[in-house]
Amino acid sequence: MHAGQGSPDTCGTQQHAGGGAATGGAIGRFRERPISIAGAHPRGDGDCGWRAGGQSTPGGSRCRRRTYSRPVCGGIGRAGGAAAQGTRPPSCMGVRLWPYSGPAGGRRGASWRRAGVALYMRFKARRGLKLEAKPTDAPAVLIVGGGMAGLCAAVSALEAGAAVTVIEKSKRLGGSMRLSNGLVWTFKEASALRSEVRGNESLQDMVFESHLQDLGWLESQGVECGPVRPFQWYGQGRTVAPDQVISAMVRRVELLGGRIRTDVAMHRLRPVRNWGYEVDVYLSETDTSTLEADAVILATGGFQGNPELVARWITSETDNIYLRANPWSTGDGLTAAMELGAALTRGMGEFYGHAMAAPPARFGPRQFSDMTQRYGNYALALNLSGRRFVDESAGTGEEALNAEIARQEKATAIYIIDNDIAAMSREFVLAPPHVSVTRAEAAGASVLRKDSIEALADSLKAWGLPAQEVLNTIQAFNTALAAGTADQLVPPRRRNLHPIATAPFTAVKVRAGITFTCGGLATDVDMRVLRRTGTVSTLPMLLADTADVDYCAFPNLYAAGCDVGGLSNRGYMGGLACALVTGRKAGAQAAASARVR
Ligand SMILES: Cc1cc2nc3c(=O)[nH]c(=O)nc-3n(C[C@H](O)[C@H](O)[C@H](O)COP(=O)(O)OP(=O)(O)OC[C@H]3O[C@@H](n4cnc5c(N)ncnc54)[C@H](O)[C@@H]3O)c2cc1C
Repeated sequence: MHAGQGSPDTCGTQQHAGGGAATGGAIGRFRERPISIAGAHPRGDGDCGWRAGGQSTPGGSRCRRRTYSRPVCGGIGRAGGAAAQGTRPPSCMGVRLWPYSGPAGGRRGASWRRAGVALYMRFKARRGLKLEAKPTDAPAVLIVGGGMAGLCAAVSALEAGAAVTVIEKSKRLGGSMRLSNGLVWTFKEASALRSEVRGNESLQDMVFESHLQDLGWLESQGVECGPVRPFQWYGQGRTVAPDQVISAMVRRVELLGGRIRTDVAMHRLRPVRNWGYEVDVYLSETDTSTLEADAVILATGGFQGNPELVARWITSETDNIYLRANPWSTGDGLTAAMELGAALTRGMGEFYGHAMAAPPARFGPRQFSDMTQRYGNYALALNLSGRRFVDESAGTGEEALNAEIARQEKATAIYIIDNDIAAMSREFVLAPPHVSVTRAEAAGASVLRKDSIEALADSLKAWGLPAQEVLNTIQAFNTALAAGTADQLVPPRRRNLHPIATAPFTAVKVRAGITFTCGGLATDVDMRVLRRTGTVSTLPMLLADTADVDYCAFPNLYAAGCDVGGLSNRGYMGGLACALVTGRKAGAQAAASARVR
């Protein structure tokens, strides 16, 4: 069970009403409050360096004192705050957007300095009005995505002294992390990681080496982490409660003076010469705006929610495959960076996920884990033609099988288990198979139980499978296992050599589910997004290896979490650990490298 039972929504728009200095809710909720503009800033020294139209306008001479309304939320002003109030300032004037410290107003003095820093993003309103807040000397880091990686990046960048704004596409924070089981794990032995998971070894090593230390950092932010515990035979990690992670990290962002905006979706990036990026965003569903930042971190959680991209790289069965994730990760980080020429990793077709009870089962996102049929790597899996199509036991769990189901007709398979497999303990499969099957049945899934293999094969006709083919497949499987020749089956069966032998026999209809994509943006170990510059091969063109490519990094553009490609390319080394480590690293690097204009 998740600790920290605060409603997830309290991390989004509603929380703002309670008055965190920096945490905002929906953009465009303004409160009338007179403020003074250039020439009357709080330091009273007449030179805050506010700028108008991109030019520095040292206080005094060029600016007149004037009062007008200011937005409570400060930052991203739908229709530009003052303009929306009908009191448009002269175009030469820079406007400081004051922070709102909420009704409690407690930390006001200190907080406005921090939040003043955090407002170092200029917002172009629809009518061309440019609202601008000149910060102190901190670089402005914009983090796109308020999930695991984005929240870790935000706190890390704030700790490194940056002015941070997080934009989150949905109305609530947490992304897929919010739906997760909260086990922040990765491999405990480097050798097992190397043999079980292909991918970018430098990035993998970074996650492997930093994982427990970064969990300590997470704990120091107020996140309640359980003790280190083993995960299956190969992993170790600590359990967190997703809702509590979200509330603790939001509190940290607030305390450090960062800002969070929900309902703001990035859709395009434009590099600006000599500094950072202009970032086009959708505000809610209809409005748009442009933000500017010295550095941008893309943490949008992968492209599994985008059927066009899934069809391009993963499977044509996009009408059938389950999205086992948050619905907002539609590849926005990937496509925005691709428009700039970002390099992608190999294995764009790789993804992590699990098969879940197929329709007519009905369930919601919070039941994804309960509907997951994790014992597939112990089962015999048939496609709708009644044939095996993959070594069910490949990989460290059921993920490799699930990836193949995604490419079968209707992204559907039938798991066949006998009584011995159904009764396996959770030590092997996290949840005993009979429990998973019962949960699926309760949700309306298609499940059959028979006392003989012949009867089971016959009843599978009702699901459109050819009974004789099913029978032949099960018998051939059992015969090969008994003869010790399972590795000669086509496809072979190399591990988990359990025959389908003990009644009752159960068939469960499952569909592939995609949790996150593993292909994505190519980055270096500082999490900088890369582009290709040419080949470094000395071989003639026809012999050159595609790996012989030279890369360079985009200035001040970073990726974290599932937007980073190549971490788990075949196999799976944990999603939350990768998001934690890459997010923390990206935040620190972005804060350190971004130049202040
Ligand atoms: C049911 C389930 C169980 C899981 N259990 C575990 C587990 O126990 N252990 C584990 O290691 N992993 C687990 N995972 C995987 C883990 O949740 C992910 O690997 C992790 O959340 C990835 O972090 P992320 O920050 O990259 O993406 P997310 O946490 O998904 O965050 C991405 C965020 O970006 C936002 N976004 C997208 N596009 C935009 C845009 N254009 N502008 C602004 N914001 C945008 C999204 O709305 C989302 O909030 C599980 C996942 C699921 C679904």
